[in-house]
Amino acid sequence: MKKLTQVALSHRYADLGEVFGSRVAPTPFEHPRLLHVNPSVLALLGIDPATAGDPAWAAIGCGKRLLPGSRPFAMKYTGHQFGVYNPDLGDGRALLLGEIEQDQRLWELHLKGAGKTPYSRFGDGRAVLRSTIREYLAGEALHGLGIRSTRALCLVGSDEPVTRESIETGAMLIRVARTHVRFGHFEYLFYTRQLQALQQLIDFVCRRFLPQSLSLPPPERAEALLRFAVRRSAELAAAWQAQGFAHGVLNTDNMSIIGDTFDFGPYGFLDDYEPEFICNHSDHTGRYAFEQQPGVVLWNLNALAHAFSALVSTDTLRDSLEDFQPQLTEHYAALMGRKLGLAKPEEGDHKLCADLLQLLAAARADYTLFFRALAHYGGERPPGALINLLPEPHHQALLDWLHHYDERLARDDSGDDRNSAMLAANPKFILRNYLAQKVIDAAEAGDFQPLQTLFELLQSPFDEHPEHETWAAAPPASGKHIPISCSS
Ligand code: AMP
Ligand code: MG
Repeated sequence: MKKLTQVALSHRYADLGEVFGSRVAPTPFEHPRLLHVNPSVLALLGIDPATAGDPAWAAIGCGKRLLPGSRPFAMKYTGHQFGVYNPDLGDGRALLLGEIEQDQRLWELHLKGAGKTPYSRFGDGRAVLRSTIREYLAGEALHGLGIRSTRALCLVGSDEPVTRESIETGAMLIRVARTHVRFGHFEYLFYTRQLQALQQLIDFVCRRFLPQSLSLPPPERAEALLRFAVRRSAELAAAWQAQGFAHGVLNTDNMSIIGDTFDFGPYGFLDDYEPEFICNHSDHTGRYAFEQQPGVVLWNLNALAHAFSALVSTDTLRDSLEDFQPQLTEHYAALMGRKLGLAKPEEGDHKLCADLLQLLAAARADYTLFFRALAHYGGERPPGALINLLPEPHHQALLDWLHHYDERLARDDSGDDRNSAMLAANPKFILRNYLAQKVIDAAEAGDFQPLQTLFELLQSPFDEHPEHETWAAAPPASGKHIPISCSS
């Protein structure tokens, strides 16, 4: 494990050259305040987790002090926002500092909230404490659930006023990911007809994630990357649907080429099972509603494929995209099979699952609490914990469904292991909006203990943590559908 003084960065992306972005110095906070350092991410980077207590992170986490080898670089990208192409995007408030190599893997460090860049447009280059806490927790929550996501290394606050709907304070985080290349990076090079650079970027990503493809001719490398993005995105969308995560702003500039959950805005985890749930209050048409996500991810993959159309034949692009639906279905079925505790898949499982989801939607039952209770279910009548999660008019439908479920379990041979396997697939703790809000309200008042508590629970969301029962509770009525501002 490295000491802080032994950490050094390389920067393969900046090495690509000025076509891909701009060198920009961060604008540090005058009075940074270190709010959190993530010991698990330190370990991931091969840095001694004990350095979490080192006050040097305050300066590093706001760009005041640069780790050796850092070359802050604003990446240029474009993208489709709500279906409309926007050529003016790019890192408007974040800088790619460089990457750390650990166990033959590269981890990029990206400082978010670091001030203006050539791509800031009308923005101030800052991020507020509220949105930074939301991003910090979301990465841990998804990672804890086994869903691919960017994470964050540290969180730094400040007394710098930042104007949104009201005056808030600025904060920064260091985002960590294996790559920050988005669909929109490829769109930028395609729409500006920089085709040599487009191939260069494809090769850059292939070198990191598909080294075996480097021996192929260029069009086949591009095809391999597209197929990889299709598969990873299908797996990601399946995982979101299975655990009830709504991203909220699935624009192509928020889509990671490797299928990480990327860029957190007004996201939401489902409380009640509402397929039509819209977490983004500016999304008036429901383009990014929960149940629309797989379709929108495919739409985004189409936009990515279009950016490859100068290099790859239309037939091949179409063929690559056709893998999406079967991969999504297969992955989703496997995840739901785990959630239902079915060790041996059967033909009828799809219907069993669909019937349950229909029932939960009709009853507006809490998604997470229901599945957690199902993990404790042992065939008892009345099915106490389960039945209490649904309003009375839906009780008979639940009993009917449980009858089919009991029959199905009898044919499965998971036996005594079923409950423990289900407890490892159905979280007790999720990042509900009302909990995020509670943590933010406390943090804005100077109390960071709730942040620490929730952070730890989200890192092991399948464990019981009996002393923290209140964090597993359904929201009070007032905590459902809290409007989440898009501003960040
Ligand atoms: P987002 O909504 O965070 O995905 O950002 C969309 C685009 O707006 C990206 O190009 C961002 O870099 C840019 N952006 C968002 N907020 C700001 C800000 N406060 N200052 C400058 N650029 C921003
Ligand atoms: Mg974004």
